[in-house]
Amino acid sequence: MSEDFNEIADGLAAVARGFHARGWLLGTSGNLSAVVQREPLRIAMSASGVDKGELRAEQVLSIDEGARVVSRDGGKPSDESLLHIRIVKERGAGAVLHTHSVWNTILSDLYAADGGLKIEGYEMLKGLQGVRTHEHAEWLPIVENSQDMTTLADTIGETLNKHKAAHGFLLRRHGLYSWGDNLAQAKRHIEILEFLLETIGRTLRIREQSI
Ligand SMILES: [Zn+2]
Repeated sequence: MSEDFNEIADGLAAVARGFHARGWLLGTSGNLSAVVQREPLRIAMSASGVDKGELRAEQVLSIDEGARVVSRDGGKPSDESLLHIRIVKERGAGAVLHTHSVWNTILSDLYAADGGLKIEGYEMLKGLQGVRTHEHAEWLPIVENSQDMTTLADTIGETLNKHKAAHGFLLRRHGLYSWGDNLAQAKRHIEILEFLLETIGRTLRIREQSI
């Protein structure tokens, strides 16, 4: 493996451990990827079924655009690799991160009938690339979950095309996807969106209790 790959794998493992510590990647859930090279496409992808709190760089696989493993031995790439690849292609992303937090799971269900969730008026929105003011309205689309990854990848492709300004999307009762030009930006976007989702969720609960 190239030095680039090893550095990227180390970076993904560090982000995974941090997100796990926050409860966003429990029970081997979630997955992380970063582009190693574009032509031909090579993506560093976390292996399926590994504990993200203990993810080691050696458990990061190199996959091609068909989600086939092209690196050394062992390991199976995450089932959701096809979704990462689609996001990389549609958005030109350099890294894609996917979390299963309690709040993103709850809100992905609560707002599913609306097809998405509008987040506006929060200072933290300015952490999203290109957003300059808290007055920004971020639309976070919600896509119905499926185990058919080929079909789901197509649905996500259509959703991303329809919502060109979106920085992420939710899969219903499943989790959050976000991405960035590089790993640092993708990590920031997940942190911002998780913060905002938890804020909205907690606000709803407080309002409910005060009625
Ligand atoms: Zn998932």
